[in-house]
Amino acid sequence: MYYIKSDLTSIIIDLGVSYKKIKDALTTYENDISNVNAVFITHEHSDHIKGLNMFVKKNPNTPIYSSEGTYNYLCNILNEAEIPSDSLHIIDTNSPITINDVTIQAFDTIHDAVNPVGYKISSGEKTLTIATDLGTMTDDVFCHLCDSSFSVIESNYDKNMLYAGSYPFYIKRRIAGPYGHLSNEDSGQVILKLAQNGKRNFLLSHMSENNNMPILAKEAICSTLSLAGFDISEFDISVAPKEFTGEVYLL
Ligand SMILES: [Zn+2]
Ligand SMILES: [Zn+2]
Repeated sequence: MYYIKSDLTSIIIDLGVSYKKIKDALTTYENDISNVNAVFITHEHSDHIKGLNMFVKKNPNTPIYSSEGTYNYLCNILNEAEIPSDSLHIIDTNSPITINDVTIQAFDTIHDAVNPVGYKISSGEKTLTIATDLGTMTDDVFCHLCDSSFSVIESNYDKNMLYAGSYPFYIKRRIAGPYGHLSNEDSGQVILKLAQNGKRNFLLSHMSENNNMPILAKEAICSTLSLAGFDISEFDISVAPKEFTGEVYLL
């Protein structure tokens, strides 16, 4: 879950933790869940929609946007739980949505979900792009990251930890495959290209519980940048907590 706030607007990206955790996270940031203007879902994997049913039950008037394929999937989930699905809406990648002072643009991502997307969120001069769950970095996703002042980018796994770990081989292959996730090295290469385009602010995110450690991710990215001649002190690179509740961005 990412909580993003501007002067006039509060939005949430993904509901991957329990409703209680979402509610508590907002209280920490002195906001109430009833003030959230809209929710945007990236895709239907459980680590992105765990709190959906309860959120819709408790906040039936808060619009929830997703891509068309994800929308159909979420409608079924709510219908099975006998929860009205009227609050679900489709966001089209060609039609950004404006809520008060914030504009949200969806873009396609490559991942083993029905219709996954990332989001670029702008308010005034500031733009934040959230790109996680990426099996492959496409030119389109890269352009959105390049167009942002702040990037939330996946750094999912350390290759050695993944291959030495206890997951069955087919899952290891899925994670490292073109529809899985970006490794620390992959993320380092993307961040290097973004650095060459003048970008300096990054949050490493969607870190695997079992196949990564914050220190390994940060080291991989920083050594890639250093080897290419960049001065790390010019960068702001932070690591999101593994269970990302209530990461807050003020646009
Ligand atoms: Zn996923
Ligand atoms: Zn995920």
